[in-house]
Amino acid sequence: MNPPLSTAVSLGTRYATELADLALPWQAAEVPEPRLLVLNESLATELGLDPAWLRSDEGIGLLTGTVVPEGATPVAQAYAGHQFGGYSPRLGDGRALLMGELGSHDLHLKGSGRTPFSRGGDGFAAVGPMLREYVVSEAMHALGIPTTRSLAVVATGRPVRREAVLPGAVLARIASSHLRVGTFQYARSTGDADLLRQLADHAIARHHPHAADAEQPYLAFFESVMQAQASLVAQWMLVGFVHGVMNTDNMTISGQTIDYGPCAFLDAFDPTTVFSSIDEQGRYAFGNQPIVAEWNLARFAESILPLLADDESAGVEIATTSLRTFRDRYSAAWSAGMRAKLGLASSVDDAVARPLVADLVALMTAGHPDHTGFFRALATAARGDAEPARGMFLDLAGFDAWAERWLALAPDADAMDRVNPAYVPRNHLVEEALTAATDGDLAPVERLLSVLAAPYDVRPGLERFAEPAPDSFGQYTTFCGT
Ligand code: AMP
Ligand code: MG
Repeated sequence: MNPPLSTAVSLGTRYATELADLALPWQAAEVPEPRLLVLNESLATELGLDPAWLRSDEGIGLLTGTVVPEGATPVAQAYAGHQFGGYSPRLGDGRALLMGELGSHDLHLKGSGRTPFSRGGDGFAAVGPMLREYVVSEAMHALGIPTTRSLAVVATGRPVRREAVLPGAVLARIASSHLRVGTFQYARSTGDADLLRQLADHAIARHHPHAADAEQPYLAFFESVMQAQASLVAQWMLVGFVHGVMNTDNMTISGQTIDYGPCAFLDAFDPTTVFSSIDEQGRYAFGNQPIVAEWNLARFAESILPLLADDESAGVEIATTSLRTFRDRYSAAWSAGMRAKLGLASSVDDAVARPLVADLVALMTAGHPDHTGFFRALATAARGDAEPARGMFLDLAGFDAWAERWLALAPDADAMDRVNPAYVPRNHLVEEALTAATDGDLAPVERLLSVLAAPYDVRPGLERFAEPAPDSFGQYTTFCGT
């Protein structure tokens, strides 16, 4: 049965038509009892959608895929991917659909039912994890970190079977595209050189248009993706974000953060931090993220080898040489970010800043201060009161010696407060809000969203949102099978 059509909005079919070999036209599952839980009105307006219409039956139909704009072609996208290092040749949208493009953005649904890529999965998603993606992705956006956005979460009224039976939901997600490293791996594995080239040309046009004018467009494309990812992962590291499942199917070509599953923010600083229950080896631990990004980019390079040179060994040579620049790109982005976090003026020489930063990381690794709270406390130290920061360390002499060197450089406290957030989606706050929402009370989620929308602005009354989890919260674990 075909879903009802709407003429209220129109969606582009660029991906579905330009890359038809990577797109299976499909339709969303019925939604027994749709109920809009959250709507991102400002994002809707930015996209040219009328929030009042989105709240109507027809609008909610669009947000769940049960109403299709006339002329649109919703598709499940094909992709492959290395998951925890092992290659899966056929993943694809097992519970998601690309509805089409709104201008230059994808409108994508997660939890919209089974597709030909579902394998053993049910195609559905639960309210808690979809609201979690909404909260964390919107927090990342407010922090200034490239990310997919969340437009809405609609409860479906369908029970979803996980460890327990949970209420089902669909997330409507906006992204500059859903092209992944895994999309290229899939295209490469078909052996169809034209398809691989079409995919690369599509990605260049959408995300890295300057590469088209380069002498070697596909090498320039690779380097542009590498730069975007080096910068992205540096921003994660600077804010204490652990993605949790950096499989190659979860790494975008655009450089946006995607797929908020078992992700979480650090409380205490510790490079070995792992939150995900399924990451038993710590492959995606906080401190490993830059190395994993480089590993994923090597898989990306492999997938586009035929575009880099006619001869495979020449392609490998080009890719290897290029990939060697990743570490410097990452270090440059991260070091610049650390200088900013420490409020250092541009006149401070790198020869001074580098060891200062390295010694701070060593101090933090040994002392495990609360990551977010510590950098805010450092601004207080720059204003003359070092006690709050000092109190986060047992090695007081070590901290004092470091702080003396740093304070001698006259750090700019106001500049620090503009780059060090006071509020991040702390795990205990997210859990508390999601538990309430699953029980039908959305007020805590709305409150948390409003706090996280202005992460650098300290407001009175929000003290508990800036504090680490109480000891009683214990060790935090996030679950996949979201
Ligand atoms: P993710 O871990 O969310 O990035 O998903 C990895 C792969 O598993 C993708 O191909 C998803 O479409 C698929 N997947 C995840 N959950 C489900 C589900 N409940 N039903 C069907 N496919 C799923
Ligand atoms: Mg994924």
